[in-house]
Amino acid sequence: MKTIIEPFRIKSVEPVYMTTREERESFIRDAHYNLFGLKSVQVLIDLLTDSGTSAMSSNQWAAIQRGDESYAGSESFFRFYQAVTEIMPFKHVIPTHQGRAAEKILFSVIGGEGKQIPNNTHFDTTRANIEFTGARAVDLVIEEGKNPQLIHPFKGNMDIDALRSFIDETGPENIPCVMLTLTNNSGGGQPVSMQNIRDIRKVCDEFKFPLIFDACRFAENAYFIKIREDGFGDKSVKEICLEIFSYADGCTMSAKKDALVNIGGFLCLNDDDWAAKARNLLILTEGFPTYGGLAGRDLDAIAVGLHEILEEDYLHYRIRSTEYLGEKINAAGVPIVLPVGGHAVYIDAKAMLPHIPTTHFPGQTLAVELYLAGGIRGCEIGSVMFGKSAQMELVRLAIPRRVYTQSHIDYVIEVIIGVYERRNELRGMNIIYQPEVLRHFTCHFKYVDTN
Ligand SMILES: *Cc1c(COP(=O)(O)O)cnc(C)c1O
Repeated sequence: MKTIIEPFRIKSVEPVYMTTREERESFIRDAHYNLFGLKSVQVLIDLLTDSGTSAMSSNQWAAIQRGDESYAGSESFFRFYQAVTEIMPFKHVIPTHQGRAAEKILFSVIGGEGKQIPNNTHFDTTRANIEFTGARAVDLVIEEGKNPQLIHPFKGNMDIDALRSFIDETGPENIPCVMLTLTNNSGGGQPVSMQNIRDIRKVCDEFKFPLIFDACRFAENAYFIKIREDGFGDKSVKEICLEIFSYADGCTMSAKKDALVNIGGFLCLNDDDWAAKARNLLILTEGFPTYGGLAGRDLDAIAVGLHEILEEDYLHYRIRSTEYLGEKINAAGVPIVLPVGGHAVYIDAKAMLPHIPTTHFPGQTLAVELYLAGGIRGCEIGSVMFGKSAQMELVRLAIPRRVYTQSHIDYVIEVIIGVYERRNELRGMNIIYQPEVLRHFTCHFKYVDTN
């Protein structure tokens, strides 16, 4: 079958609002050409992020009603604990309000001045939480993972030789753990192979390093292993997940990704001493260990989400529909990061708009044009976000889980191809106001040839 059908039907709908280009011109002008400044009702198709934007299922909404809001020992916690440990069989499971809270607690326990923590690529909140403790965050993704056009099945893999040299240079005593991000979000949602995970485990065994996963998109990663890696085609995604987690000593998780909920996260650990310290910190900033930063009903929704995320019909639809968007625009000539990752399509704005120098933000120009042309909100990932350290000028179109249908995506494809066909008319932008940190959220722009 060629047609990708959504493996669900719609029980409850949320309207989206059609607007004219003229209206959008006025909305984006009022937002100073910053897409973060728009109101959500001014956006038709919102591809800003896949985080916390999933549609919950009828079973998840039913579970919300079961939420036990007892302060201590809530039934919801035990259902949550059961669901997590069925896939991730760690000894301690500590609920937090989202992924970064799990990171903050973990690195407060194991980070600190002089420590260094390697990863394939640290996500920005992970890096920030490590650096906040005075430790250093080091990225060791394979060379192939840095080349946007190069096709490789597991561009999220860690470079094992680089890991060994890093250990030599740093000294094993300064490395509290090795981390691995599944899938590699900052590298384009690219997966890590089981072989790479096994190889990293071997190095960890040699030096007695705990291996900690940043597990936000673990199910998407497992599905890529199933379809791309030899020997896994006949295994269930659950079996693959169990093998993946058997190599780890703990994980951080944002439930806003592969647990199909709108808020939540957790920290898993096997080490009793680390877990005791983490729970002490949890009580200071999140809450009692049986609810963390969440309501009982949120824990129930996560428990159901973790079952649903392993459904292979869902994962097939998820991975294929993201790929479908990438394939269609790429076939029309639009340059994208290849192969398409699990949760997003990245347009290479620098290659698409060679007449706009990076000093005039080709990614921002394209993101604004996609909004003007069709009410689509994507996210610049380039010089606006990272300043002079930007490696690429990308526009990320992140796909919320179970939210948009194929006709929404076909519309997105039409809009992108329309913009591509008149790409030579696009002109660059300047930043006319910026705050001191994280400028991309609030800075103001204007087009180069306007006053
Ligand atoms: C989203 C994300 C986080 C942080 O999780 P939040 O729930 O947004 O705090 C950490 N790592 C990766 C890879 C992520 O995608």
